[in-house]
Amino acid sequence: MSPDALAAAGNAFDDSLDTYFRNGLADADGDVAALIRAEGDRQSRGIELIASENVVSRAVLEAQGSWFCNKTVEGYPGARYHGGAEIADALETLGERRACALFGARQANLQPHSGSQANLAVFSALLKPSDPVLGLDLKCGGHLSHGSSANISGKVYDIRAYGLRPDDGRIDMDQLRDAARKHRPKLIVAGGSSYPRELDLKGFREIADEVEARLLVDMAHFAGLVAGQVLGNPVDYADIVTTTTYKSLRGARGGMILWNDEGLSRPLRSAVFPGVQGSPLLHMMAAKAVGLGEALQPAFKDYARRVRNNARALADEMMNCGLKVVTDGTDTPLILVDLSGLETDGQTASDALAAIGITCNKNLIPNDPRPPSTASGLRFGVSAMTSRGIRESDIRRVGRWVADCLLGRMQDTGRVRQDVERMARSFRYYPMP
Ligand SMILES: *Cc1c(COP(=O)(O)O)cnc(C)c1O
Repeated sequence: MSPDALAAAGNAFDDSLDTYFRNGLADADGDVAALIRAEGDRQSRGIELIASENVVSRAVLEAQGSWFCNKTVEGYPGARYHGGAEIADALETLGERRACALFGARQANLQPHSGSQANLAVFSALLKPSDPVLGLDLKCGGHLSHGSSANISGKVYDIRAYGLRPDDGRIDMDQLRDAARKHRPKLIVAGGSSYPRELDLKGFREIADEVEARLLVDMAHFAGLVAGQVLGNPVDYADIVTTTTYKSLRGARGGMILWNDEGLSRPLRSAVFPGVQGSPLLHMMAAKAVGLGEALQPAFKDYARRVRNNARALADEMMNCGLKVVTDGTDTPLILVDLSGLETDGQTASDALAAIGITCNKNLIPNDPRPPSTASGLRFGVSAMTSRGIRESDIRRVGRWVADCLLGRMQDTGRVRQDVERMARSFRYYPMP
């Protein structure tokens, strides 16, 4: 058969083209569509207190699923390796401009696929293998990507740790200064994944200056509170700031790097691409730009204030009910509950809470005797529920449920499960298909 005759006879591929471009997920793939619906239902009827989660706007969701996912570029605006990049250039430039405006930075890179990728890029831009780095001990709330032996950062660089003051659980700035003088790190890392208090940014800067180290602040958990001007801005103190864009900042899944010094621009940009990544995810870039645009609106300041008020109210209610909260409160969206005096561990406790519809995660407490797989703490965050509209009186009620559950005071878990669901469904969520 000639090629044309073959085409005229049709084949399965040609026949599929109509539905390929026309059918939505519900028609194209019932299995995955059902799972997505089930996940939406789960999210709408639970009280979500996992500190790294949030609920993005419908607009951010739409951008994530946009035609930009078809485009690859490589490189940076004006210097791409692929053609047809003019619109992608405009998008990336818009996103960078919004990030700079929001955080008062001169430079931004929105390409990192995640927070860990952003940190890896910064490490590789500033350091040679085996260079000394000083970061918050993972056991005291540091992040895996700041030098855990299980992470590439801990395998390639000479990681030294600083910790917390035993009496109040705050970062021990004296120990940090002593460690900095002793180890002469090239890089000091501030920020972590379960440290609930505001950082002493000025103190970090002074110590970094004294030992001529660069200062990296990883603001992943509290970036939304910086954007909303509830917390001090690390960009004013650090050489480089990294963050995730999806935690309290409430945007697309991914990471971002901010800095002021022009001299860092080349090494940082080339560390992201081609250093640790290939083509950026432009649909996520679009969604990052949308989220940053939202964070520039006046309503975001109210959101950030409410996140902090809700976090403090939840910590306060938990303590009133007899739970131990690390540092006796919080300045950020997150709360760390210390279970060490109780007859439960983090795994058992988070399972018990999940059974009544409240999700959080097990977490090490400072100097935890248990391994991370069970842990003696629970980490809570209020960013997601605040996005759905929860207010102080209801978050306090949630705090009482958590305390009753953990302290073995809950009589009728079935009824509480229903009350939790009723409350959760009373808050806003996307229209369900
Ligand atoms: C969440 C987090 C990250 C990592 O983010 P991923 O997107 O999961 O890679 C890095 N640093 C800190 C402090 C975090 O809290």
